[in-house]
Amino acid sequence: MKIAVIGAGSAGLAALRHCTAGAYDCEVVCYEKTDQVGGTWVYREETGVDQYGLQIHTSMYKNLRTNLPKEVMGYPDYPVPDAPESYLTRKQILDFLNSYCDHFNLRQYIRLQHNVELVEPTNGERKWSIKVKDLPKNTVVSESFDAVMVCNGHYFQPSMPTLKGQNIFQGQQLHSHDYRVPELFADKTVVVLGAGPSGMDLALDISKKAKRVILSHHLKDPIGTVFPGNVVQKPDVQELTEHGVLFKDGASETVDIIFYCTGYKYSFPFLSEKCGVRVDSNMVTPLWKHLVSIESPTLALIGLPFYVCAFDMFDLQVRFVLKFWYGKKDLPSKADMLRQEREELVKREKEGLQKKHFHMMGPKQGDYYDDLADTAGITPLPPVFTKLHNESSDGFLNDLVHYREKRYRIIDDYNYIVL
Ligand SMILES: Cc1cc2nc3c(=O)[nH]c(=O)nc-3n(C[C@H](O)[C@H](O)[C@H](O)COP(=O)(O)OP(=O)(O)OC[C@H]3O[C@@H](n4cnc5c(N)ncnc54)[C@H](O)[C@@H]3O)c2cc1C
Repeated sequence: MKIAVIGAGSAGLAALRHCTAGAYDCEVVCYEKTDQVGGTWVYREETGVDQYGLQIHTSMYKNLRTNLPKEVMGYPDYPVPDAPESYLTRKQILDFLNSYCDHFNLRQYIRLQHNVELVEPTNGERKWSIKVKDLPKNTVVSESFDAVMVCNGHYFQPSMPTLKGQNIFQGQQLHSHDYRVPELFADKTVVVLGAGPSGMDLALDISKKAKRVILSHHLKDPIGTVFPGNVVQKPDVQELTEHGVLFKDGASETVDIIFYCTGYKYSFPFLSEKCGVRVDSNMVTPLWKHLVSIESPTLALIGLPFYVCAFDMFDLQVRFVLKFWYGKKDLPSKADMLRQEREELVKREKEGLQKKHFHMMGPKQGDYYDDLADTAGITPLPPVFTKLHNESSDGFLNDLVHYREKRYRIIDDYNYIVL
């Protein structure tokens, strides 16, 4: 098979690793639009667009430390090397991804500075045509493939709420995608919108410089963690005024900056409509197991589930897909796959989740991993990953300021210890 991989972040590297491991007769090409591997872990000071007019992909900020311990941030066959800390810096993770890339000799398959512009099925041939631009040469070529793994990430397209008064507010408005350093917030009063992982983490990061941080969210109860003294919590914003914010509880504040930590939208700007995958209220559909296009199963979207052990899951998803593409396992019928997706949606709706939460895994991520492994007959991920992920998520929610001081060691497939 000739396989295309779109993106050389941690998902694309896992795809390359398994396509080239020798288990499958495979020719693979990976297109990466930036000038290096690592995806969102590549820190860049610039925001907006790059020298080629393309949107800057990374959402990484200078002071980021991981929100998961390194013990669950490796690949199943290539763990993060030992280090004194469990929670690493962005640079340590980028170095790790580069060492993974070198260890498995993956660079030879990657075409850097190649932006995929269009993917579409070729009529009747059961193949895919990929139109790609060589950015430095400014030339566009089309290449044909038997199968495509889309690994373009999902933290680059900001999701922005519409707020009354957004156009009259005189201060600055910024999405977390464009956040780099806290200095921008020095001595400012900032409203942080959203209390997801990025809202909480960024409220903490900017609190080191800002005069006041107002964390605005619609969680039923106030967040239990102890924030620094200059961070307060408020309900949702009712509207923006010329120089401030009116909150839903009737209170108003004068503020300098609105900082949108309102998350991201799934986006596949290069997939033609004919690919048969669409984004509906931030659910990517129709997909089998959050992964395989039901309309055209030689198209796979790696990495959609969130609140997961990302790199391990990418590895599992890639191994899953290859089993089916190479006929070692048979795909269910189209009707069956559609039924499974529908049933999962109904189940999640009964649990009170919205469509936009369809790919959210969290505490039950282990069920998803087990299902993939059972269905494809591949080596599962050890349950200790889910257990440690859950412990870390609890730490994040309950002790944001200190939880990263903890150090862990995994001792077997089921247990870890705190050092
Ligand atoms: C600020 C931040 C902090 C995070 N912290 C953690 C953490 O602590 N722990 C954790 O496990 N996860 C964390 N994540 C999640 C992180 O996204 C995943 O860990 C993982 O890196 C995603 O990998 P990916 O390969 O799917 O996507 P990405 O890393 O986004 O890589 C996608 C690649 O595709 C390329 N690409 C996109 N479009 C095209 C195109 N048209 N043509 C060619 N190439 C293209 C991009 O340039 C990029 O290199 C964090 C994410 C963010 C944004």
